[in-house]
Amino acid sequence: MLNRQTIENPVEVEGIALHSGGRVRLRLVPAGPGTGVVFVRTDRGDAEIPAKLEFQAPSFYSTVLRNGEESVGTVEHLMAAVSALLVDDLRIELDGPEVPILDGSARPFVELIRSAGFREHAATRDYLTLTRPIVLHEEEKRIAAYPGREFRVTYAIDFDHPLLGHQELSVSLWDTHAFAEKLAPARTFTFERDVEALRGRGLALGGSLDNAIVLGEDGILNEQELRYPDEFVRHKILDLTGDLSLVGRAVRAHVVAYRAGHDLHLRLARAILQARDSWYLAPWSEEAPRRGATAQA
Ligand SMILES: [Zn+2]
Repeated sequence: MLNRQTIENPVEVEGIALHSGGRVRLRLVPAGPGTGVVFVRTDRGDAEIPAKLEFQAPSFYSTVLRNGEESVGTVEHLMAAVSALLVDDLRIELDGPEVPILDGSARPFVELIRSAGFREHAATRDYLTLTRPIVLHEEEKRIAAYPGREFRVTYAIDFDHPLLGHQELSVSLWDTHAFAEKLAPARTFTFERDVEALRGRGLALGGSLDNAIVLGEDGILNEQELRYPDEFVRHKILDLTGDLSLVGRAVRAHVVAYRAGHDLHLRLARAILQARDSWYLAPWSEEAPRRGATAQA
């Protein structure tokens, strides 16, 4: 568990792209130590797009990576599963512009990765260990990362809607089973009133009640029940996990978010990487974070 990992065997799945509406085949392929996570557009001459913050491109409603002319969208649910299951090195092949949305959660990705099996590399994993707090806000929205022994997320949402209202949850993502059981099944959600606006902008063309919870005025339009009473805040933690993974390192920190979203998640990831005096890289140890330890590249 403390060494870098890849998957044992290639695995694949096919599904609908949420925004473009087309079918996409996703294939996960083992990669050598130090590769990191790299998306590969097999329909675009095997163009490579590393899953790192420096390749993150501005977008609405999902997280997009771009390398020159080539891009890949809706990466956050897959990236949440990859990082939470501690897969450090992986090739992600796609024959279209987006990761398939599948059921709108990360559960199918967890199942896919587990079905591939894990292979440990000889190289140890370096953890980005935070030693000083990093705090950001934007109007009423807040996000912060505090030094912590493990990776923990505390999240609160507050929507003016009878089903959502205030939901809060704190989860340690240190245990890979916690992600698989508590967070991965939580589906993405949207408001009925926003769906037409999204479609007007050419987005959510593949969206349906099969891959998102759609909220009407006073309930959900889906026939299935919620997977958890607080499925919404669980999905927000899932999104945050995926967005923060673009730091490119396993993180030891306690992240606290209030009414945040992709934009603020990604700003936090960027602020962490830029605050070079506020973290160090080291293999896992039981020790608490040490102030004054030197940052490395
Ligand atoms: Zn999401």
